[in-house]
Amino acid sequence: MRLEDFSPVDRELAQVAPGGDLIYRCLDCGADHGIEKLLYTCPECGAVLLIEDRDFPRLKSTSGPDWRRRFDLRRMLNHPAAKGIFRYHELIAPVVPADSVLYLGEGHTPLVEATALLRQAVGCSFAFKNDGQNPSASFKDRGMAVALSFLNYLIKHRGAGNILSVCASTGDTSASAALYASYLAPAVKSAVLLPRGKVTPQQLAQPLGAGASVFEIPGVFDDCMKVVEYLADHYQVALLNSKNAWRIRGQESYAYEVAQDLDYDLTGRALFVPIGNAGNVSAIMAGLMKLRELDIITSLPKLVGVQSHHADPVFRYYQESDPQKRQWRPVTVQASVAQAAMIGNPVSMPRVVELARRYNQAAGGPAFFVVQVSEQEIMDNMILANRHGHIVCTQGGESLAGLRRALDLGLVGGDEQAILDATAHHLKFIGFQQMYFEDSFPPDFGVTPRKELVNAPQEVVAGARQPQPGQPLEGEEFTSFVEATALEIAKRLGLEAR
Ligand SMILES: *Cc1c(COP(=O)(O)O)cnc(C)c1O
Ligand SMILES: [Zn+2]
Repeated sequence: MRLEDFSPVDRELAQVAPGGDLIYRCLDCGADHGIEKLLYTCPECGAVLLIEDRDFPRLKSTSGPDWRRRFDLRRMLNHPAAKGIFRYHELIAPVVPADSVLYLGEGHTPLVEATALLRQAVGCSFAFKNDGQNPSASFKDRGMAVALSFLNYLIKHRGAGNILSVCASTGDTSASAALYASYLAPAVKSAVLLPRGKVTPQQLAQPLGAGASVFEIPGVFDDCMKVVEYLADHYQVALLNSKNAWRIRGQESYAYEVAQDLDYDLTGRALFVPIGNAGNVSAIMAGLMKLRELDIITSLPKLVGVQSHHADPVFRYYQESDPQKRQWRPVTVQASVAQAAMIGNPVSMPRVVELARRYNQAAGGPAFFVVQVSEQEIMDNMILANRHGHIVCTQGGESLAGLRRALDLGLVGGDEQAILDATAHHLKFIGFQQMYFEDSFPPDFGVTPRKELVNAPQEVVAGARQPQPGQPLEGEEFTSFVEATALEIAKRLGLEAR
């Protein structure tokens, strides 16, 4: 629909207008810094930043019901600045004018309910939100759309140009960064740093295809991140890791969409999110709190972060129940099928600590939890989900494994409904399924396939002669090949004649 098609009242409500007074706020010393310069850490103390809107209170003059109606109206609107995640314009990046918004199809990802059978197997009702159905096939596009829209705004309205964007990645950040940067060529060029052998062939193919400079570095993600931080500190580059606070803003849209998908009723619900660099879980907490503050939702849901036992620094931190005694210690990661979350020293940890404190406070009690799952559980649950109509990656399997752990621990009850983040598309991580089916996991993963979950193609060679490439069969020979092959398949499937 067009804006003109709405009633005058709705037109007013749905309209997108620039506004807000956004600044970078340091999470440690509390200093505010202007957004006209690209900043990733506080120039005064070096801590990470969040973007805050100093004019946020203006948003409270719109009622909760009006906000809900605004977002729902915009979902019908064919206006580039209200499409995708920018339908939450006021909450995400109100300084970005309509002409600078980059929309490549991100957001509006489906929320797919688990079937009765799967529900029964798991012990509570749940749904996957398929963020693998974003343009580069992971949730990272939510943050990247905003980071690149802001760069686009600087190019269009502030005379910026010749921007080189850089990021370190476990695979999906670079795929997303390269895609969005390529849309702004030639004003933006991109370079990505990947840990050699620690991203899947599909993830490596993505930035290559988008024309980025791709650098493979020995080591793990945490090593690449340090190099990128050095580059950002010493050279003129735009950093696109989630250290970039604009990324966090964009990823808040996951929380807004989950709320909208559920008609803004999050009571009795629990969200499960895999944690790697901890940008996503930070963004979701921030987003949920904004919804609550504006009365768009009436209560904060539980939020459960999930980590593999092979990369679990956040889980370990929260194992200590006394906040005074908690100690932050990065861990050395081991091989993980949840490769996109295989991070021992998450950049956004200070954000998690601060936002979780506020979240629990706003919820009136413990509402943020972190659980740990095994590599085996991640694989078993990914395959189980995909055998029931879902398309989840290993990290999505981690979300489901996390739900089962939370049920075991009593953090979530069987009468609640869980929303599981399937953070990337299944096909990006297909090699892990193959290793499971072929029982070829290297020993350091510690995964043994469960027979009932294994699948493999069966060869069928029947009849006197078979066709070969370039040598088709004809006449009697072809008919007899078709009959013999069909008979063999019918036998193996136990089919009855009709
Ligand atoms: C990046 C990523 C994660 C981890 O998200 P963080 O924001 O780094 O915690 C999980 N799953 C997938 C598929 C990812 O690409
Ligand atoms: Zn500071």
